[in-house]
Amino acid sequence: MKRIGVLTSGGDAPGMNAAVRAVVRKGIYHGLEVWGIRRGYAGLIDGEIYRLGLRSVADVIQRGGTFLRTARSQEFMTEEGRKKAVEVLNRFGIDGLITIGGDGTFRGAMELNRLGVKVIGVPGTIDNDLAGTDYTIGFDSAVDTVVDAINKIRDTAASHERVFIIEVMGRYSGEIALTAGLAGGAESILIPEIPYDPQEVCDRLKESYEKGKKHSIIIVAEGVASAQRVADDIRSLSGFDTRITVLGHLQRGGTPSSFDRNLASRLSAAAVEALLAGKSNYMTGIQGSEIKLVPFEEAINKKKKINTELLELAQILAR
Ligand code: ATP
Repeated sequence: MKRIGVLTSGGDAPGMNAAVRAVVRKGIYHGLEVWGIRRGYAGLIDGEIYRLGLRSVADVIQRGGTFLRTARSQEFMTEEGRKKAVEVLNRFGIDGLITIGGDGTFRGAMELNRLGVKVIGVPGTIDNDLAGTDYTIGFDSAVDTVVDAINKIRDTAASHERVFIIEVMGRYSGEIALTAGLAGGAESILIPEIPYDPQEVCDRLKESYEKGKKHSIIIVAEGVASAQRVADDIRSLSGFDTRITVLGHLQRGGTPSSFDRNLASRLSAAAVEALLAGKSNYMTGIQGSEIKLVPFEEAINKKKKINTELLELAQILAR
């Protein structure tokens, strides 16, 4: 293997730049040429490829987003589009590819593997929804952003004695809501893995008010319901004064946490080593303190189990 390519794809996540930096510098350390592909699979199909040197990744470790940029490509969803992508890789003489992204990105990578491309994935998504890795790059930073917002909203919630509902990302996964909710001391945490029962939320609110609590914070993952709907439910069932905040894309931005930078550095260096060892069709993952190779199939299709004990703990501690 002489020349490898690297791309970021799907939703951006803080720490993607640290991941690209690690691919470039670890690759060059091993005598490889490293080429950057702009705009994910869309840029691959269009041949937006350029060589990355050691200095081209200077001063990016602390930056959010991805300097390679990212995209969602409809064309790549077709066999014809993927064949074009393989032709481009062959034209540039790229014999190994590292894709940084989430489950969609890895589905695409599996298709490339089927067409004969050697490909290793690095989990870069704020969702933390991939099996075989305890954490994905960007999750920790997104949780910090949510906790920072909770802290600020708590100040105003306490002053006005109100119920605040904060909507966070997580269409199918409650990882962000749960981890940030526990860290931020939220009174209720609503996640897609558990059926939503508005009456139960109101009962808990009433109980804590009877115990002297004058304000509450409820975290809702977007996949459960909108913050507006939860606020309407609470108002009509209990009459509490509610306010909503939708954090939206704030959660994707900002400087990556040191945890995410270190995770990105380790997972990406391991991806280069995997390519050098002739491996393909794997994602690098962290399990405990060890870096492992996880088959794409398992990372995507095995359901990551949410730790519901944390939900119970959050409820006990927020009483
Ligand atoms: P995130 O979960 O953080 O948004 P992601 O990697 O899951 O990241 P997607 O938009 O789902 O983001 O996927 C990124 C790209 O991967 C898609 O735009 C598409 O080009 C490609 N892709 C997704 N699913 C498939 C598939 N089944 N086959 C081929 N390519 C796919």
